[in-house]
Amino acid sequence: MSSDSTSADDDQSAAGPESAVETARRQLRRAAGHLDIDPNVVERLMHPKRVQEVTVPIERDDGTVEVFTGYRAQHDSVRGPYKGGLRYQPEVTRDECVGLAMWMTWKCAVMDLPFGGAKGGIAVDPKALSESERERLTRRFAEEIRHVIGPTRDIPAPDMGTDPQTMAWLMDAYSMQEGETVPGVVTGKPPVVGGSEGREAAPGRSVAIVTREAVDYYDRELADVTVAVQGYGSVGANAARLLHDWGATVVSVSDVTGAIYDPDGLDPNSIPSHDEEPGAVGRQDVPETLTNDELLELDVDVLVPAAIGNVLTGANAHAVAADVIVEGANGPVTTAADEIFAERGIPVIPDILANAGGVTVSYFEWLQDINRRAWSLERVHDELETEMLAAWRDVCEAYEARDVTWRDAAYIVALSRVAEAHEARGLWP
Ligand code: NAD
Repeated sequence: MSSDSTSADDDQSAAGPESAVETARRQLRRAAGHLDIDPNVVERLMHPKRVQEVTVPIERDDGTVEVFTGYRAQHDSVRGPYKGGLRYQPEVTRDECVGLAMWMTWKCAVMDLPFGGAKGGIAVDPKALSESERERLTRRFAEEIRHVIGPTRDIPAPDMGTDPQTMAWLMDAYSMQEGETVPGVVTGKPPVVGGSEGREAAPGRSVAIVTREAVDYYDRELADVTVAVQGYGSVGANAARLLHDWGATVVSVSDVTGAIYDPDGLDPNSIPSHDEEPGAVGRQDVPETLTNDELLELDVDVLVPAAIGNVLTGANAHAVAADVIVEGANGPVTTAADEIFAERGIPVIPDILANAGGVTVSYFEWLQDINRRAWSLERVHDELETEMLAAWRDVCEAYEARDVTWRDAAYIVALSRVAEAHEARGLWP
């Protein structure tokens, strides 16, 4: 889904672009249309179970008090505790949290994780706060949402504007009030306080695994394919490096300033990622540079948009020359572009499957926390491989059984699992 705002060429109505919750509801209706499920269950899934809205006052470093608004939207917990990120961003709204919480429900379900969907955040620009102000904000927010989160209730994780340190503060604030150390209340923590090895690189790793499987599905060898990756951050760089190590030729990568291109192949292991050295992409000695728009239109076998949402739109989808698109970012393909790719027969492997390595290793982190037993990096990689292959096979089965897109197939797998669980449990009382 489009996790951020919907682009200007899509879904425009007199009231303006479609909101995250409207997109989520439209996708739910679309998936439900392919399935024989109880309409009453679909109706329940159109609504979040709960949205907690809280006021978060903090003392600024200059002694004044500023008041922010925070949210935690919990969509559905029929399969297990709620799971989803917390973002600190000025644009955070109640509706956005609800839409993204619904999307987390499908992401957890397509991976068959025993979690439901949640999302939350605070409408704040974290860069405008000092580190100690961010810590006070996080600790106060933790207190305000304490009664709705917990290792068996709702487990937050980092998202835009938050990081492992934010999760460590949240875990500490929660643990102080509980009177015991509760590492399983959040995931994405630093390993020293119960975080998992391999968590940071996991979304990029799952993108690489899914790309490898998609290439194989279309009867190609990784050694014979060219790849272009937009966005050389955590997701893009990890995916590019693994695909290179597995034999693919990565011909182009980009950051926000532009792309580099070498038809003979780049070596992603020698190009520092955005986190490792911001701006390093543009400083490489390469035969050619391109704009980000030109990267998207390169004649490559696999295109991996891994930067931001809504980059492939009704305006440029006709010019895309890749054979397969694998969504590394959340929502890089708009609804209008999706329709054009379906007409043109270009498969789009959806974000809820491709970048789900992040939430999957979050699940591993939660298991490690609950069992008080850390896993080796090798075990994390092995178990992630197993989970990704199982989800890939389930989505392939739905894709082959029906005349649908890969995105529809993933939503069908997810919704079937959630709906079956609702039907089995029934409505209380
Ligand atoms: P990041 O900040 O590490 O890297 C983003 C990269 O994209 C940087 O190289 C940046 O320069 C580039 N970029 C930013 N704006 C751009 C633009 N307009 N055009 C081209 N390039 C641009 O981010 P990340 O963690 O790798 O996340 C990338 C995407 O993947 C986001 O959509 C995010 O929501 C999604 N995602 C991230 C995770 C995760 O855990 N990191 C998990 C799932 C999905």
